[in-house]
Amino acid sequence: GPRIGVLTSGGDAQGMNAAVRAVVRGAIHLGARPFAIYEGYQGAVDGGPGIREMTWDDVGNIMHRGGTIIGTARCAAFREREGRRTAAKNLLERGIDRLVVIGGDGSLTGTDLFRREWPDLLRELHERGEISAETMAAHPTLMVAGIVGSIDNDLVGTDMTIGTDSALHRIIEALDAISSTAASHQRTFIVEVMGRHCGYLPLSAAIAGGADAVFVPEDPPRDGWEERLCDKLAAARAAGRRDSIVLVAEGALDRQGERIDVDRLHDVIERGLGEDARITILGHVQRGGTPSAYDRWMSTLLGIAAVQDVLAATADSPAHIIGVRRNRLARLPLVQSIENTRAVAGYIKEGEYDKAIEARGESFGK
Ligand code: ADP
Repeated sequence: GPRIGVLTSGGDAQGMNAAVRAVVRGAIHLGARPFAIYEGYQGAVDGGPGIREMTWDDVGNIMHRGGTIIGTARCAAFREREGRRTAAKNLLERGIDRLVVIGGDGSLTGTDLFRREWPDLLRELHERGEISAETMAAHPTLMVAGIVGSIDNDLVGTDMTIGTDSALHRIIEALDAISSTAASHQRTFIVEVMGRHCGYLPLSAAIAGGADAVFVPEDPPRDGWEERLCDKLAAARAAGRRDSIVLVAEGALDRQGERIDVDRLHDVIERGLGEDARITILGHVQRGGTPSAYDRWMSTLLGIAAVQDVLAATADSPAHIIGVRRNRLARLPLVQSIENTRAVAGYIKEGEYDKAIEARGESFGK
């Protein structure tokens, strides 16, 4: 049967294991042979034990684990054509010409490039005497499907990406813990959460966790925000609220494009209220731990759909991202989705915040 490679690349996200499991078992169920490519693209570049055929049992007992059992890495070699040529050779040695890549926008950009270059890479390999004419003819195209693993939920066009729901759970647990200690001492806590160009996590966490204020990259506060923040915190305190929480995305900015980070917020509160606010940067705890039920469920559906997609693909089908859109499975054009996603970062950089919010659209519940 057809041979499918699966890899996880870029930052890890809870739920990646469920996706890998679904790809492996979905492939076997549909009569294909699944291969794990270890440590992101590195396993493809290295070949040898970097690419291993998977059995049904190899992915048993992994669904509930965070991270990814097949490893993830940033692979510099794959950014070079030579690295991708070597990767093509190693895949062909095992007859693999279908790939499911689970990763962020960088990883999926690499996948699409690899797919487009594939015929040329094979020609070069043949010219160098590294593959036969039969091998070249037998695998004229690389068929790929992408699944976005990113706790930021930054992909434009889907409801959720893998890991986001688990990260949100982790943040809320942390906020609950923080707010009980904040209440005991009548304190303000400033909490930094992930979200370089995407405010989904801080915004959702602020609502679900009952925070007093939130700062997100796409919608910087209007000038004079320092005073308004302090007034609001003071009013809440005067009204009897004992705990206050201010959430900030790691990529939050003001209208001048300057970072609003935890230290700056601390200074603002100290100057405005004479209060020594406490700072918590959640960092990697947001990535760690058990994936939520939603992440396991969604990743399983996406993994199976991705296998179906690469098995159904033909030479001229475009590459897809498999995601959930409006609570249904959806196949989105890979290149366009990545471009739309990267455009948001551009809008933020250029100060075009209305466009950034518009582009986020559905995932912000608008
Ligand atoms: P993410 O996938 O989370 O956005 P990166 O941008 O670091 O993370 O990409 C992960 C890996 O994907 C890189 O280390 C590299 O191997 C590969 N990659 C990323 N961008 C490209 C590209 N433009 N061309 C080829 N490979 C790429």
